[in-house]
Amino acid sequence: MSKISYEKRTVDYMIGLYCRKNHRTNGLCPDCETLKDYALDRLIKCPFGEDKPACKECKIHCYQADMKANILEVMRFSGPRMIIYFPLDYLKHLIRK
Ligand code: SF4
Ligand SMILES: [Zn+2]
Repeated sequence: MSKISYEKRTVDYMIGLYCRKNHRTNGLCPDCETLKDYALDRLIKCPFGEDKPACKECKIHCYQADMKANILEVMRFSGPRMIIYFPLDYLKHLIRK
């Protein structure tokens, strides 16, 4: 799987998990749907392509301020929980680092 595809899937998992646990909706709430669409669009348009760094280590950080704050909150919540809910993906993520 390409890096961009992998990251798209990871973002999708993380936002889904965050929404389920914090907003308790069935499927994504409108705000999380907007954030997901935005994050996926950023990934597709990433100027680094397959050589992209981790977004949080990126010098450009192409996110607008409010979306950046939102995605960081999602990462803080879902990042540590990935090992419980998506252990195989989390292991792959560690290996890639
Ligand atoms: S933050 Fe950086 S690495 Fe992430 S999508 Fe934007 S330009 Fe690419
Ligand atoms: Zn939500």
